Amino acid sequence: MQYDILIIGGGAAGFFAAINAAEMDPGAKIAILERGKEVLSKVRISGGGRCNVTHAEFLPKELVKNYPRGEKELRGPFHQFMTGDTIAWFEERNIELKIEEDGRMFPVSDTSETIINCFLSEAEGLKIQVRKSEAVKTLHWKDSHWEVGTQKSTLSASKILIATGSNPKIWKLLEKLGHSISAAVPSLFTFNIKDNRIADLPGISTHAEVKVQGEKLQDEGPVLITHWGLSGPAILRLSAWGARELHDLDYNFNVEVNWLPGFSSEEILEQLKVLKFELAKQQVFKKAQFELPKRLWQNLVTASKIEGNITWADLNKDELLRLAQQLTAAVFQVNGKSTFKEEFVTAGGIDLKEVNFKTFESRIQNNLFFAGEVLNIDAVTGGFNFQNAWTGGYLAAKAMTS
Ligand SMILES: Cc1cc2nc3c(=O)[nH]c(=O)nc-3n(C[C@H](O)[C@H](O)[C@H](O)COP(=O)(O)OP(=O)(O)OC[C@H]3O[C@@H](n4cnc5c(N)ncnc54)[C@H](O)[C@@H]3O)c2cc1C
Repeated sequence: MQYDILIIGGGAAGFFAAINAAEMDPGAKIAILERGKEVLSKVRISGGGRCNVTHAEFLPKELVKNYPRGEKELRGPFHQFMTGDTIAWFEERNIELKIEEDGRMFPVSDTSETIINCFLSEAEGLKIQVRKSEAVKTLHWKDSHWEVGTQKSTLSASKILIATGSNPKIWKLLEKLGHSISAAVPSLFTFNIKDNRIADLPGISTHAEVKVQGEKLQDEGPVLITHWGLSGPAILRLSAWGARELHDLDYNFNVEVNWLPGFSSEEILEQLKVLKFELAKQQVFKKAQFELPKRLWQNLVTASKIEGNITWADLNKDELLRLAQQLTAAVFQVNGKSTFKEEFVTAGGIDLKEVNFKTFESRIQNNLFFAGEVLNIDAVTGGFNFQNAWTGGYLAAKAMTS
């Protein structure tokens, strides 16, 4: 079988590339090879079954800040195709996207089926062959074409796009072609912590500053206390930016939490001294200060070894110091990680230096293109991982058909 373009991997990036390529070059013979029985399975379960398609961030220089790996490389591509283009692309196909408060964008239907049905009907209309249960096992460049071997057949193509996500087997094949692979490590996880200060507070969310001790890793934003430890956007961002460092620490490290972001221990100590006078007769434990959730405040007071019946006036210097410390630099020991809402992303993949980001073509081998998570690109949660798949898929399609 001879093809102009073979897309390897029937996921988000593969379908987006195939559809755009078929539209840009209607005469091209295009097929998608998918190892599974079903295509688009990650799209189906994405965003809790709602598919967080993209994010309402419309400046490339801001958008790239959400990519711990790929920040520099995606800047150029985002000037060609980014969030606004994604919205328009789906709108042209009668799919309206809505923006949630935190900027995440979903189909108005609130189901990923809408996205899947769109891709499947576009692919059918454009006569893209979708070959399921065909896992690519071999790749050879022979006499100016690619020979692609699956367990069922040998196919040939002028150009191939690798859109296999984080599949280690394909990385092995690509290594044989001369590519370097950055080893895969998990990204986007929550921190396992067993600690009395947060043990009885699952569900409480508060704005905080978080820092990994001994590393240059810090973030600020909502922190959510869970049954297992700490989660929420600030923690997930730390896990993504620190994916490699935290893996090297075997997920055993200390995280320092400032529950009053923007304020130092010294500043809070001064504030506590003011409260000592202003609230002299009140019990410290009873009423939360600094707009902290009440039970968190109480746990921090207890952790500062301040007795429940002590009034503000009775606080001694050491107690004030300990409280300031708990409020602004509470250290928690992390032992292990957990998956965030089953959403996991892998950091690792094709070394970005080996890819031309104008075309998403390999710099090592002509007529070999990449898109999506197969590259050493990943993002924090919020629709950014799919945006990488759309952008890469679109630009690779453009290059493969020009
Ligand atoms: C539970 C969950 C929820 C998520 N939710 C979101 C979200 O809402 N928003 C967001 O932006 N990101 C989300 N992500 C991340 C997002 O799903 C991925 O970044 C995205 O799917 C990557 O697209 P891709 O096309 O590169 O890879 P994939 O979607 O993984 O597709 C790769 C395809 O290639 C196939 N394949 C692999 N090897 C071969 C082979 N040898 N031969 C043939 N086919 C092969 C695979 O079977 C697969 O179908 C979520 C991830 C998970 C796990």
